[in-house]
Amino acid sequence: MVVAYKHEPFTDFSVEANKNELLEALKHIESDLGKEYPLIIGGERITTEDKIVSKNPANKEEVIGYVSKADNELAEQAMKVADETFSTWRKSDPGFRAGILFRAAAIVRRRKFEFIAHLIKEGGKPWKESDADVAEGIDFLEYYGRQILELGQGAEVTSRPIEYNQFHYIPLGVGIVISPWNFLFAIMAGTTTAAMVSGNTVLLKPASSTPIIAYKLMEVLEESGMPAGVVNYIPGPGSEVGDYLVDHPRTRFVSFTGSRDVGTGIFERAAKVQDGQQWLKRTIIEMGGKDTIVVDRDADLELAAESIVHSAFGFSGQKCSACSRAVIHEDVYEDVKDRVVELTKELTVGNPSEASNKYMGPVIDQHAFEKIMDYIELGKKEGNLLVGGDGDDSKGYFINPTVFADVDPEARIMQEEIFGPVVGLTKAQDFDQAIDIANNTDYGLTGAVISNNRTHIEKAREDFHVGNLYFNRGCTAAIVGYHPFGGFNMSGTDSKAGGPDYLIHHMQGKTTSEMF
Ligand code: GLU
Repeated sequence: MVVAYKHEPFTDFSVEANKNELLEALKHIESDLGKEYPLIIGGERITTEDKIVSKNPANKEEVIGYVSKADNELAEQAMKVADETFSTWRKSDPGFRAGILFRAAAIVRRRKFEFIAHLIKEGGKPWKESDADVAEGIDFLEYYGRQILELGQGAEVTSRPIEYNQFHYIPLGVGIVISPWNFLFAIMAGTTTAAMVSGNTVLLKPASSTPIIAYKLMEVLEESGMPAGVVNYIPGPGSEVGDYLVDHPRTRFVSFTGSRDVGTGIFERAAKVQDGQQWLKRTIIEMGGKDTIVVDRDADLELAAESIVHSAFGFSGQKCSACSRAVIHEDVYEDVKDRVVELTKELTVGNPSEASNKYMGPVIDQHAFEKIMDYIELGKKEGNLLVGGDGDDSKGYFINPTVFADVDPEARIMQEEIFGPVVGLTKAQDFDQAIDIANNTDYGLTGAVISNNRTHIEKAREDFHVGNLYFNRGCTAAIVGYHPFGGFNMSGTDSKAGGPDYLIHHMQGKTTSEMF
């Protein structure tokens, strides 16, 4: 029996020993900077001339590494390997697969500070957020390992006399995993290993801004005993390799986490049945959010302000769960607004590699920087700028936490996903109107309600239409196994990562019935 699942504890960096260990790890990985990383297809290392350059978003000059870049020919080669490997991997014992994940979790746990340091460099993530990202990755490995042990048994069905019925989950085939840069370890590791531990073979195409952490996962999986060809590492441009593989007739499913534009594009492409294709492709798609915190009249206002600020500005708002709108009862609007401004002014922004680690680091790249700054300019027209509103991309991509007040709920900054440190505040006359406003977007990922009114909490439970609804806390920081994560409407397929049904999306049910 495995021990019961429990989430990985976070590191307390106010403890001097922990702080020093991380500073040591940061120094240590300096020696890895600028290294080259090959593709991995069928366990073989393949180096290409053309490279993806992974840079530190906090310091544009600092190259983390040069990563080989797959093209359509290499993607085809990887597809052949994955397809062949599936014929044996699909029959592997679920216990064998789970063992790989448990061992991988143990290896990452032992090398935790190195992984945290890597995320700080490659993702520009502050310490606390990097630590949470690594912890969540470990959680996914532990949780999905346990889940396959259970699901591998199948589910109970009824039999009759002289009849023996069974119901089992079998894998699907080759899966394309396209992972994001924001949870560069956790979501990349979670989506890859969920697909693999369910008995599928995988073509892993990590985000082009953070491909090296995925190489590290490959090494860990290999060390844990994963056979060659089960997960293949093929970074490359989405518009080329991504599209090619999504369209491929041998692709059985696509697991994507990223933007709404790319996600809806993948959904459409995957729906088209190609010549020679024998199935309807499955898609597991997690896209954006326009997540709202509702503050009731009868509420802990300090908690409300803290929840808004931390959910809006943690990791510079680069979470699909981030709070980008707060809808506040008019009777407490001024108080909450003032406190949000005070708390935001206390936040610090800077390079997370430095010892004086700041609350916020940079945004991911130039494109993100410009897009967010454009939204900030728009916000200056659509609302009242209370704090922030400026950025500096001379060294890295830094944007100050920005709060707009008195924004019309229909304004663009209240409707479109910004994916940066920007929050808009708006007033509601009563709780019903606040929930209506909260629901008035295309998305439905996370939301929170700060209220002491039990009737209102129950109303929100029924009517606030989001996949992850939180009461009296912020709207980010879901924990694997505790808060299955995924959203409604244009937020995606609500596949609920880290939840009890997640692996089933990567499998299909097979009934067998024998007469005696
Ligand atoms: N699971 C994360 C959270 O609860 C967000 C994931 C994402 O941004 O993709 O904050």
